[in-house]
Amino acid sequence: MKALNCPKGHGPMALSTIDKQMTFKGADISVAAKAYVCPACGLEAGTPQTAGALQLAIADAYRVKQGLLTSSELKDLRKSRNLTQQQLADIMNIGIASIKRWETGTVQSASMDHALLMQLQCRTQADNYSGNREISLARIKLIAKCFEAILGVRLLKKGDRLLFLAKYLWYADFLSFRVLGRGLTGASYAAITYGPQLNNYRDLVEPIKNSDVNSAEPLSNEELRIVQKVAERFPTEQNVYDAAHSEKIWIESDIGALIPYSWAHELTEI
Ligand SMILES: [Zn+2]
Repeated sequence: MKALNCPKGHGPMALSTIDKQMTFKGADISVAAKAYVCPACGLEAGTPQTAGALQLAIADAYRVKQGLLTSSELKDLRKSRNLTQQQLADIMNIGIASIKRWETGTVQSASMDHALLMQLQCRTQADNYSGNREISLARIKLIAKCFEAILGVRLLKKGDRLLFLAKYLWYADFLSFRVLGRGLTGASYAAITYGPQLNNYRDLVEPIKNSDVNSAEPLSNEELRIVQKVAERFPTEQNVYDAAHSEKIWIESDIGALIPYSWAHELTEI
């Protein structure tokens, strides 16, 4: 930064750190701020850079005092979960502009802070491939039975490769993640030649069939509506097969790669 001269004619001012006491949003806070100070008369002057840094320091001091995530904590937490600003915005169902503002100094509300922590703290990087929950084979079977009842077809057949069921489950899990911030089954999905498929499906078919639906966490009304919506949107197995094959997020995935749940907002057929 170029040194400033004192407007009272005392020559160059020195960049100094000064403790500032102030009231921000009703809280008394103190911040160490950078400013140019005249050694002769004590006059302080800021620059756009020092003003921006001061704003951020004030906002962060306030957040520390209120127990809210600071800008850098939010940014670090988001990155540690391997999420872009856009992905976090989508999961939170808010605009990306809000995330950008919070990460550059605007103070988030306490309720939003809580929602951010729920989404970020309770998530690991791997959760991006399991929709924010542990895999439950019993729940996969329960939802399969649900689809069978609504559609009037058998989807979980003997010796099956789950070609159609996997696509119904994929849409239901991803739609649930998009709408509720959490998948339904905890399953991971791989992009294979025949479309999105349960990861390691060969090892899962028999255990799914043998699982006890009564041990599964029951579907909430919201979750049941997700399943109904998918079934109504794709009334036949051919419908769901064709739709899945037209999805950009499957087409653009490498064969065998897991499809991240954070891409759910890019589904086009539902
Ligand atoms: Zn001066």
